[in-house]
Amino acid sequence: MLHFDVMDGIFVNNISYGLPLLEQVRSCTDMILDVHLMITRPERYVERFAKTGADIISFHLEATDDVRGTISAIRAAGAKVSLAIKPATPAQSVFEYLPLVDMVLVMTVEPGFGGQSLIPETLEKVEIIRRRAQETGLDLDIEVDGGINAQTAPEAKKAGANVIVSGSFLFRADDMKKTVELIKEGNKC
Ligand code: ZN
Repeated sequence: MLHFDVMDGIFVNNISYGLPLLEQVRSCTDMILDVHLMITRPERYVERFAKTGADIISFHLEATDDVRGTISAIRAAGAKVSLAIKPATPAQSVFEYLPLVDMVLVMTVEPGFGGQSLIPETLEKVEIIRRRAQETGLDLDIEVDGGINAQTAPEAKKAGANVIVSGSFLFRADDMKKTVELIKEGNKC
């Protein structure tokens, strides 16, 4: 799938792109589009992102006062729901929402910029959330995002992540296809 990072310059200290680019991307691929909203009060925009072609919408727990309403709005618009947390947000803060979402996105760096190193403590949160999902019988996807390369991907998988986002590592690679395979296989480069 293609991970699409939307930044509003308020929730994070950077601005990326939004609906017009998503529309363009949607028109040239059938890939699953995994839209990660790093924006304040995402409930204002989730319907438009879904209608523009997002298959999965991740929004941040820290960005809204209405987590349940945002989940419902994404579902009503026909997209899958993913709840994202920043590195400083405790794993336990997503527990009450786990039965309502398809995926939890655990940020493994501070959101806002590519090319950072993975914060090891964030993988402990992946373990905690994976354990909770198993204990409560939930078929939950756990996504990690930030600092993923051929060394950290196997660590993230071991912690319980099954959706692995990689940006800089792939875009800097000489052969992106091979590098994707490398991450999937979990081999060291
Ligand atoms: Zn992202």
